[in-house]
Amino acid sequence: MHSVDIITMGCSKNLVDSEQLMRQFKKFGYKIYHNPERTHGDVAVVNTCGFIGDAKEESVNMILELCDAKERGELKKVFVMGCLSERYLNELVEEVPQVDKFYGKFNWKDLLSDLCGDYDESLRNRRVLTTPKHYAYLKISEGCDRKCAYCAIPIITGSHKSRPMEEILDEVRELVAEGVSEFQVIAQELTYYGIDLYKEQRLPRLIEEMARIPGVRWIRLHYAYPTHFPKDLLRVMREYPNVCNYLDIALQHIADPVLQRMQRHITKAETLALLQEMRREVPGICIRTTLMVGFPGETEEDFNELLDFVREVRFDRMGAFAYSEEEGTYAALNYEDDVPEEVKQARLDKLMSVQERISAELCAAKVGQRFTVVIDRQEGDYYIGRTEADSPEVDCEVLVPVSEQSLQTGAFYTAEITGADEFDLYATIVD
Ligand code: SF4
Repeated sequence: MHSVDIITMGCSKNLVDSEQLMRQFKKFGYKIYHNPERTHGDVAVVNTCGFIGDAKEESVNMILELCDAKERGELKKVFVMGCLSERYLNELVEEVPQVDKFYGKFNWKDLLSDLCGDYDESLRNRRVLTTPKHYAYLKISEGCDRKCAYCAIPIITGSHKSRPMEEILDEVRELVAEGVSEFQVIAQELTYYGIDLYKEQRLPRLIEEMARIPGVRWIRLHYAYPTHFPKDLLRVMREYPNVCNYLDIALQHIADPVLQRMQRHITKAETLALLQEMRREVPGICIRTTLMVGFPGETEEDFNELLDFVREVRFDRMGAFAYSEEEGTYAALNYEDDVPEEVKQARLDKLMSVQERISAELCAAKVGQRFTVVIDRQEGDYYIGRTEADSPEVDCEVLVPVSEQSLQTGAFYTAEITGADEFDLYATIVD
């Protein structure tokens, strides 16, 4: 076997696992590919997602596609790992016998020893980056101890495990030495960092230590949780220019009866107070959130309260999805999935159209302003970049005409915004 295709489904946390596996395969001399569009003949490994209905379906379809390719002789072996096989191992083994072997989320090292040799501890946390070389995802913990009623993640990933601070800081130094200057800090639940290992919330301290490492240009925080939010993080954001004034914090809903049934352990009043404090303590902070519609028992009144909340708060970035009943969760075991699918969809569409208008207004308001942008790539007639308020893959992009001047990927420039549409900005480089 000479080549291995690693196909990552789902989230950036899965991507980090794939990148670590790729580094191990590289040690054994494998040619490594990370492109779901095309396989290269020998081994294919699908790192699956098992979060919610749609994501599970995508992972199953990818597995079946690769099994068909093997059937046609375009592949020798197909292996499956990750969250879907962690959650449904027995069912998958029975239903998809064409797969050579299934692994879970945490025993992918067995795949290595089955195929090529023992996991190399000296390469622990080393990765083959699949992102543009100037930024990387940095996973600081695994698992989650929260018990949100709708969520299957704790069932899949188990309890919260923080990585030791020194190990994370060493990884940052190694990545900086490899040319990485921007870090997307991720976890299942970011703000819980340290409670298991140090018996206290250590996220502010970790980010402060990271910000002091030479060569770290931007640190962006994702997957924060509102309850018991570590307020000292706001000081760190304010005091360190290389900690982006950006926070991805999933709020899910705002109506108290829904928050209660979701077991989010926070109230509407506490949520509003937290958002106000964030905007007061970190002026201009970019807040991204995720909301859910159609949770069991959600009334029209609850939904209208959510709509008003979105209109009032005007989030810079917002994602939303409809409740999907996940077996084994508290909600699936205790609530009837009583909001009809068409009502869920109608609420989702309405919420997204409100946000689209807000996003367009916020983008338009940036015309004429100047921002630091990092260039990620060139695409046709434009260089594609981002401001500190843009996380890769999910937020806005800044388009700079190639005709104006030659720009370097991974370099930071000062750009003046010359135009905007719902989600993207157009700019010219001024410095
Ligand atoms: S905090 Fe996030 S990962 Fe944890 S249970 Fe809640 S929704 Fe799931």
